[in-house]
Amino acid sequence: MGRIFDIKRYATGDGPGIRALVFLKGCPLACAWCANPESQKSAPEIFFYRNRCIGCGRCASVCPTGAITLDRAGAVLTDPEKCIACGRCVDACLVNARQRVGEERAVAQIMDLLDRDRAFYENSGGGVTLTGGEPLAQPEFAADLLATCQRAGLHTALETSGYAEWDVVEDVVQHVDLLYYDLKHADADAHRAGTGYSNEEILRNFTRLGEEFPGKLVVRIPYVPGFNDDLAVLAQLFERARRAPSVARVEVLPYHRLGLTKYAALGRTCSVANLQPVDKGSLEPLRELGRQHGVAVEIDGR
Ligand code: SF4
Ligand code: SF4
Repeated sequence: MGRIFDIKRYATGDGPGIRALVFLKGCPLACAWCANPESQKSAPEIFFYRNRCIGCGRCASVCPTGAITLDRAGAVLTDPEKCIACGRCVDACLVNARQRVGEERAVAQIMDLLDRDRAFYENSGGGVTLTGGEPLAQPEFAADLLATCQRAGLHTALETSGYAEWDVVEDVVQHVDLLYYDLKHADADAHRAGTGYSNEEILRNFTRLGEEFPGKLVVRIPYVPGFNDDLAVLAQLFERARRAPSVARVEVLPYHRLGLTKYAALGRTCSVANLQPVDKGSLEPLRELGRQHGVAVEIDGR
């Protein structure tokens, strides 16, 4: 069984062809700019969309822990400390203002779903991509699902921060055809400031992956203003990518604000909510910087 929070069918862009993206819930890092805040905690959560709420109070009347109250104006307040994510309020809400995030699924259940779309994946040269959250945080489930997909003839891809012990990385990556590996910052202190943790293990794993699993790696760099929007920092990351054997390309992913509504729906605040989105066009010079450092750079997948 694995904890997942979404499966997107008929996706493109995270591997070749048409793909299913399986989002695993839970991540050891805490990136300030995370666009999927619902991926960070491994436990199930509840989205509350205030703009849909009509203040009927049905959710409060069925909540077994008293986590939901309505104030004098009829506005719903949810106490996350009391919520046990039982989902009763979701079932009670008639206007879909509440939504469960996260559930346990067996590998066989996911394979049943993938089988329905098999023709699309096979005819397009596509397959399955595990992302998150951090798939390496659920290594047995990730390895089992990937190995089952490979036995079924599906192309497999994995998106990872690389923050895991080498044994875990090795166990999972052996079942992967294509590996998207995040490099966020070359400096350990800056990495800790942005993600909560040092980059030392991530860089060690990256070097070893290049040596032991050559030909699978694509590097992804989230471009975040105030964190790594510095040519010297990016040049260091490009150099890292060049030194790893047979990195296919480096993808620079500009910061966007699409995740902010999800922070609000979870009752959380994003610590970088004031950051402005990055214009893709402004990153075009990074292609030339990449050429100077011997790597092919794509901006936002192009
Ligand atoms: S998920 Fe359950 S515990 Fe949480 S607010 Fe809804 S009814 Fe209450
Ligand atoms: S049941 Fe739905 S619409 Fe009614 S108060 Fe709760 S969240 Fe709002």
